[in-house]
Amino acid sequence: MYDPSEPRICHIDMDSYFVSTEILRYPDLKGVAAVVGGGSQHQPKVMADGTRQYARLKDYVGRGVVTTSTYEARALGVFSGMGLMKSAKLAPEAVLLPTDFQRYKHYSVLFKNAVRSIAPTIQDVGIDEIYVDLNGIPDDVRTIAQSIKDAVREATEGLTCSIGLAQSKLVAKIASDLQKPNGLTIVPASAIPDIIWPLAVGKVNGIGPKASSKLNTLGIMTIGDLAKANPALLQETFGRTYSEWLLRAAHGIDRRPVTTERESKSMSRETTFDRDLHPKGDRERLGEIFTRLCIQVSEDLKRKGYVGRTVGIKLRFHDFQTVTRDYTVPEVSDDPVVIRRAATECLRRVKLDKRIRLLGVRVSTLERKDPAQMRAPRQTDLFDSV
Ligand SMILES: [Mg+2]
Repeated sequence: MYDPSEPRICHIDMDSYFVSTEILRYPDLKGVAAVVGGGSQHQPKVMADGTRQYARLKDYVGRGVVTTSTYEARALGVFSGMGLMKSAKLAPEAVLLPTDFQRYKHYSVLFKNAVRSIAPTIQDVGIDEIYVDLNGIPDDVRTIAQSIKDAVREATEGLTCSIGLAQSKLVAKIASDLQKPNGLTIVPASAIPDIIWPLAVGKVNGIGPKASSKLNTLGIMTIGDLAKANPALLQETFGRTYSEWLLRAAHGIDRRPVTTERESKSMSRETTFDRDLHPKGDRERLGEIFTRLCIQVSEDLKRKGYVGRTVGIKLRFHDFQTVTRDYTVPEVSDDPVVIRRAATECLRRVKLDKRIRLLGVRVSTLERKDPAQMRAPRQTDLFDSV
């Protein structure tokens, strides 16, 4: 039955998404500590007897990061965003799988279409997550959520998602993370003190590591501490705009609607060279141009107040063959260093054996930059870290 008092803003997040789509084709990895990362190297080998042999984390050498880990790998301390070589110290025997973005995009479309068949008001916020407004759907939210899960599982050959339901996007997003995998967490406004307040402040999307540690030094560890914090003290540390936002966030107040249209889909910069450049012979010059494009895209994003999650490159060779590659970073960013690193990951997946006439860098899956990220512009030395 439809009950208008039920929370109807929904956040849906696919469970350990990349690695789960890999397990669909490698079912022998079910229940195994495994990660996806490190570009397209380390393809599984099929042995004479038909069994597969996988690379292990300890085999990896390079600067790649974990894009997703199975829950078994997380139990060993291996999480997305962690360097692969660092995670090898924690879980040397964990299986390492190459990234296959075509595959993740394919299942992403299936997942989103499945949800759309039940609840059409969807805001796309990433390859594996969406907000959905369930207002106007004539059923109770538990029933709708269950139909969504069933539809997603059916459409994706068995992938699971976790659902958070609340009166705001901010609380729904926290809620979807509370009972992973295959969770359903409903947090009506009246339950915020019980369910949300005991959590660490960093669980709020918009309170990043820097703001978290500042809050911690003020003795504010949990979202509940923040809700009860002295507004004057917060304002002294964070300025008026962000401190007011922090207090609203702690009380679960967030009036942003689920918006079905993106204001802006992507931002990109590209350049055609005056002469075709050789990937080896002109390596240094290409590197400089590549860096400059990343800085320009980063500046475009900052000027317009966006952060993005997907970094893509475009290469056109002298024979006009054009290739594109995408890489999704664990956290939205406008940081030129993050963009450059992700673009480098993309580049690793291109066979560079011909002269190049055009190079482009794009950031997509954009979101409006939130106040926390606006507070702490990161001073980085780009040339140190690329
Ligand atoms: Mg996910």
